[in-house]
Amino acid sequence: MTKPANDSGAPWFDPTTMLIGGTWRAARATLPVVDPSTGDAFAAIANGTAADVDAAVAAARAAFDGGWGRTPAVERGRILTRLGRLVAERVDDLAWLEARDVGKPLTQARADAVALARYCEFYGGAADKVLGQTIPYLDGYTVYALRQPHGVTGHIVPWNYPMQIIGRSVGAALAMGNACVLKPAEDACLTALAFAHLAAEAGLPDGVLNVVPGRGAVAGAALAGHPDIDHVSFTGSVVTGTAVQAAAARNVVPVTLELGGKSPQIVFDDADLDLALPFLVGAGIQNAGQTCSAASRILVQRGVFDAVRDAMADRYRGLRVGPALDDLDVGPLVSGKQKSIVEGFLGRAGAARVVARGAIVTDAAGHYVAPVLLADVSPGDEVAQAEIFGPVQVLLPFDDEAEAVRIANGTGYGLVAGVWTRDGGRQMRTARDLRAGQVFINDYGAGGGVELPFGGVGKSGHGREKGFEALYGFGTLKTVAARHG
Ligand code: NAD
Repeated sequence: MTKPANDSGAPWFDPTTMLIGGTWRAARATLPVVDPSTGDAFAAIANGTAADVDAAVAAARAAFDGGWGRTPAVERGRILTRLGRLVAERVDDLAWLEARDVGKPLTQARADAVALARYCEFYGGAADKVLGQTIPYLDGYTVYALRQPHGVTGHIVPWNYPMQIIGRSVGAALAMGNACVLKPAEDACLTALAFAHLAAEAGLPDGVLNVVPGRGAVAGAALAGHPDIDHVSFTGSVVTGTAVQAAAARNVVPVTLELGGKSPQIVFDDADLDLALPFLVGAGIQNAGQTCSAASRILVQRGVFDAVRDAMADRYRGLRVGPALDDLDVGPLVSGKQKSIVEGFLGRAGAARVVARGAIVTDAAGHYVAPVLLADVSPGDEVAQAEIFGPVQVLLPFDDEAEAVRIANGTGYGLVAGVWTRDGGRQMRTARDLRAGQVFINDYGAGGGVELPFGGVGKSGHGREKGFEALYGFGTLKTVAARHG
């Protein structure tokens, strides 16, 4: 990876400003940006208020009404394609920024920047391919249905994958012709601001993308409940997502919720274990387990249980945890708060047995947690039910297909599932029966794939982002029935 000119990971723009109506405005107050790898503050961001959100929504409305809403799809697509190129040129800068801001190891941060570029490329290409319908109706009528943008969309984004989530939600919303107000997470604003700078450089008109950093309870709540927002896209916790949906409901505004999960990978006796093993561990410890689609439960058929446990344990013992810029297997958790949440779960794990741990290889005062593989866990235990959001995986044995599906479906969540088997019939049956928005067969994508519709069922949320499906979600269908005799 190329070391950027500014290799301290400090922003190359003023991070204390907010983008409202094409102007970078100073905030009345700021919040510190803390490097999770060291615990040191190295920058500050705007602490946006409800009044700032008001101004941003008004600017978005003016931009939408002022022409963006009628900008030809091909032109919107060109702007996004240019933006994708600019992001691609800056992937190393963005990776450095993200690594310092959220503690993500450089290689993983770079993958997020590459994905952001790819989202812009995908939605840039898709913008002018969103077709409506013609509908057979009564004699003497022509009926068609238009897909049109909602208008002003709000985007409340978490700290775990800011670039990817901005790409999939803001990218799709802009492609459909919406004007956006983005509220990034307090712990992860830098790449959101960098993205907005690049969007202006790509020629996105003033006011089409507005960014207001700030606290969730203030700026986030103001956006979710704003009476002039037409759609809200939220990714984050179940508790906050429920509050966002309730706030939007008061304005009868549609909401897309992506709320995380307790996703299983299921390993049958006939699985290709050499193929499966890197995915079994990788999808659990990626981003220190702070991944909505982390494979936090590994269900293993009894015939291969010991072999899978031992092979995973070997991999765990080789995992090294350290500062993001050292680019090891695992970085710190995003904050001291997140570290104590994870340690709280481990402290309550009761009879669960630690099969193996990774090693913290730094003395730095960051928020480090050694990855933990747990066995002797029952499907109903808290560690097998709750979204821990840290580098913790549990092993659960099963006897047959029916029991595997029952355990896999036995949490409130339903985001992603992986099935490892060579049996074609079993692949199809489990894919049909698993309660999840995505099922991977002999693979596990942790939600991956820009082209693949993504979202959950149950407590994992509703609505779909990514792929073409996101474009439909960021638009509304208008039926036109013309009687002409
Ligand atoms: P959160 O859900 O509180 O925050 C996500 C976003 O919502 C942030 O931008 C935040 O500022 C905003 N927000 C907070 N309160 C709000 C409110 N009242 N109205 C509107 N917006 C608000 O998540 P968190 O507190 O940062 O993390 C806590 C837990 O959430 C984690 O332990 C994890 O389990 C879960 N989480 C899940 C995901 C995911 O991708 N599914 C992402 C982040 C966190």
